[in-house]
Formats: sequence, C-alpha cells, structure tokens
Amino acid sequence: MGQHLSRTVAEGRAFMQVINGQPADAMSGGRIDVVSPSDGKVFASIPAAGAADVDRAVKSSKKAFEEGPWSRMPAFERGRLLTKLGQLIEKNGDELAALESRDTGKPIRQGKADVVATMRYYEFYGGAADKIHGDTIPFLDGYTALTLREPHGVVAGIIPWNYPMQILARVAGAALAMGNTLVVKPAEDASLTTIRIAELALEAGFPEGVFNVVTGYGRDAGAALSAHPEIDYVTFTGSTMTGTAIQQAAAINNRGVTMELGGKSPQIVFADADLEKALPVLVNAIIQNGGQTCSAGSRVLLEKPIYETVAKELAARFGALVAKPHDADGDLGPMVNKKQQGQVRNLVAAAEEAGVSVLARGSIDPTAPEAGFYVEPTLFGSVDPLANIAQQEVFGPVLTLFAFDGEAEAVRLANSTDYGLVAGIWTKDGALQHRMAKRVRAGQVFVNGYGAGGGIELPFGGFKKSGHGREKGFEALFDMSATKTIVFNHG
Ligand code: ADP
Repeated sequence: MGQHLSRTVAEGRAFMQVINGQPADAMSGGRIDVVSPSDGKVFASIPAAGAADVDRAVKSSKKAFEEGPWSRMPAFERGRLLTKLGQLIEKNGDELAALESRDTGKPIRQGKADVVATMRYYEFYGGAADKIHGDTIPFLDGYTALTLREPHGVVAGIIPWNYPMQILARVAGAALAMGNTLVVKPAEDASLTTIRIAELALEAGFPEGVFNVVTGYGRDAGAALSAHPEIDYVTFTGSTMTGTAIQQAAAINNRGVTMELGGKSPQIVFADADLEKALPVLVNAIIQNGGQTCSAGSRVLLEKPIYETVAKELAARFGALVAKPHDADGDLGPMVNKKQQGQVRNLVAAAEEAGVSVLARGSIDPTAPEAGFYVEPTLFGSVDPLANIAQQEVFGPVLTLFAFDGEAEAVRLANSTDYGLVAGIWTKDGALQHRMAKRVRAGQVFVNGYGAGGGIELPFGGFKKSGHGREKGFEALFDMSATKTIVFNHG
C-alpha cells in the first residue's frame, strides 16, 4: 500500500452507524467531526448518538438474541461467520490499516500490524466457538447433574481509541462466539474501523441486530449504553476513571462487567540480563503506539550495577526517536487528540518542575504539520518511586528509570503503584525468573521479553486498579458466558 491511501482514505465521508442491519444516522441528526491527529484537519464525520439511538440499538440486539436466527444457530455456524469476517478483514486489510492509521495517527506499519492481529482474533474465536462445553458432575444417587455455558444476552462493548480494531476484535470475537449479541460504542476519536467492520460483518452474513454499532460521545451514548436496563453484560477497555463510572452505571441494573483499565507496568532488569536483547524491547514497549497502550512498559527498574550503562544506552536511543505524521511511518505518530497531547505535555512539565531529571528527549519531525498533536518522547532518570510521574499513567511516550538494590527491592518497587497489568523480568537466572514471576502483581508477566498487547491466545487483564475479568484466549469465553446447572432427578 502506498502513502496515498493512508492520506486520502475516507476523505469527506459521512459515516453511518450500523443498527439492525442498516446504516443509521443519529436521530438528532447531530454529527462529530473526525480529525486527523497528524495535521489537526477534519476529514470525515460520524453520527453523534444519544440515548434514543442507544435504545434502538439495544432493542434490536435483544430481538436478535431472543427471536432471530442467531439464538438457534449451532455454535459451529457462529464460528464459521467469525472466520468469514476474519477473511473479509484480511481482504480489506489495506483500507482498514489506512483508516485506523489516519483516524488515530498511529504509524501505518502499526495499522497493518493491527489488521493482522484483528484477523487472528476472529480466526481464533471462530475456531473456539464449538469447543467450549460444560461438565457432568458426580452427584447424589438417582440424579444426573450437568452444566451448560450460556450467553449473557446483549453485551455492550465500550471501546477506546488506542487500538480500536484489535480491542473490538477481542470483545466481539469472544462475545459472538458464545452466542451473545452485541452493541458496540467505539470512542468518539476513533470510530471508523468499527463501523467498517460492522459493515463487513453484514457482508459475512451475520444476521441483523447481532452486531450493532452506535457512535457518539462517552457522556451521551456511552453513559446511556452502560446504564441501559436491557443490556445484560458490559465490557470496557479504557481509563480507570471512566471504568469506575461505567461500573457504577452498570450496577444500577446489577450487571456483570469486564474492566480492562490502566497500567504503570514495570520492566525489571537484573544485572545478569542479556542487554542486547533487552534494550530494543525496553524502548519499543513504551514507544509503540506513542505510549498510548494500557500495557506499555512505562517504568524500567534497573539493578544498581547496570544502572549507569543502561541509562546511557536508553538515552542514546530515546534521543534518536522522531515523531512523524502517520503516513511517514516514524518511530511514533502524534497523540490521538489535543487533550491527550496536553495531558502528556503537562505531566512532563510538572515532573521537570518537580526536579525529576530528563536524560533524553526525542524530536518532532520539523516538516510535521504544526497543527498535529505531536509530543517529544521523554526519558526521565533516577526517579523517586513516590513521584507523580512514577505513579500516574501518562499514556504517552514517557519512560521513567529507577535503580534497585537486590530482589526484595525489585519486588517492592514493581508492586508500588495502584496498577497491576503487565510486567517484564529480565535475568538469566532461572530460579529468580520463577520467584519474580510469582511475586509481581500483574495479569501478565513476560520473562526475557515483553508483549505489549499482543498474544491473541493469552489471557489478559489486571490486578488492583488495572481492572478485573479477563479478555483474550479461552478465558474471555468464560467472561462472555454464564454457567447454568441442570439437575435431573430420575431416582
Ligand atoms: P479518554 O479519557 O481518553 O476519553 P476513556 O477511557 O474515557 O478515554 O474512553 C474510552 C471509551 O469510554 C470511549 O468509547 C468513550 O467514549 C467512553 N466513555 C467515556 N466516558 C464514558 C461514560 N461516562 N460512560 C460510558 N462510556 C464512556
């Protein structure tokens, strides 16, 4: 794919929601401008849905769940539809990558990588749909007891703007595989690929109402969706603050929730680590997607004997990083919007004012449009573990370095934030690898590697304020269903 497509895709298009198998404008007629983060210019628009649109979508999904062909479709046929959707995503991969990249500002190669992962999710859950089954349970004489895994009903998926296609895929893949129907609310800053994928789902043959999309602001469409009485389960990925609001809304109806929230994930590097292998991974884990990744490795803990050497190496690499427009495919793109750009700049400025030392700063391509939402990657050294920049999720290309003295301090520092999403451990000592992996509080632990966000097959989710419930892999299928126990008395 040339640069051309990622610069012109969807130009001037007035996107529509997908409700009950049909394109749908917002009932109010309201629209939201779609802005390219690379140049700050409007290039398309999406409907600004409100509570009435949400109600329509939920009722359509409820009908599809209760009365439509979906409720009687065998699991293997649901699986086939998911697999077919994956194939259509692959076929339309160039367009989807260009759309995601233009809409979010992420480098085009990341857009392409996201398409590959997205396709894999539908393929994985397509294959899994007919492989989840219940148990028979030894019970009293004269009885037979068994369990079924049943869908919740209508699942609400509230999706963030950082990896819209991938996060939609892990939600939709698992929810639909288990026989739920779905109402998705993508982020107002990144709705385009969600709309396209719902259109492709219709093309694949999903019945109407199974895969509905409402677009709009979180405070309007999102809030209405999470509090809707006919929603049976809510799954959310996004900021911890919004996650709390959504749980409170869902609690009005006592609905179950999966929450995949923020992180301040540590990479712990012991003195014996293979630094050649570790260094590029330490940089990539915070620079990928401009640091706008919940599982970004935003804290690097270095054992004292290697602190100076590694800090110097990282400073050299950080100093060379360049932020460029999405289609120029730099080390990173712009931030997704002005608010995010402001948040990163403010947190960096506040840390500097508080006296945290800047070891290196990357740059912004001088030819990048000034109205784009760029920030300079920043590396902070010798950070106090209690400092705000050490505790708060920045969600930008900002890395903090800490020194530690021995295993006990490494564990203490690793676990010293409110979050617990991912951790990386770097050492050649096998016993130390095992001890650390067990003592670090994180939903995923990587040893001598770091998979920020990837891994379709690997259960993913948080401890502490990083959330609860698990997505990805087979585990997501359990979150997306409930056990029904059936007891036959034939004595
Ligand atoms: P940000 O803080 O960058 O806007 P959020 O975590 O708030 O990121 O957004 C993630 C998703 O949650 C988006 O789809 C957004 O529209 C939605 N959202 C935001 N606020 C609410 C809310 N009060 N209720 C439901 N959804 C919301």
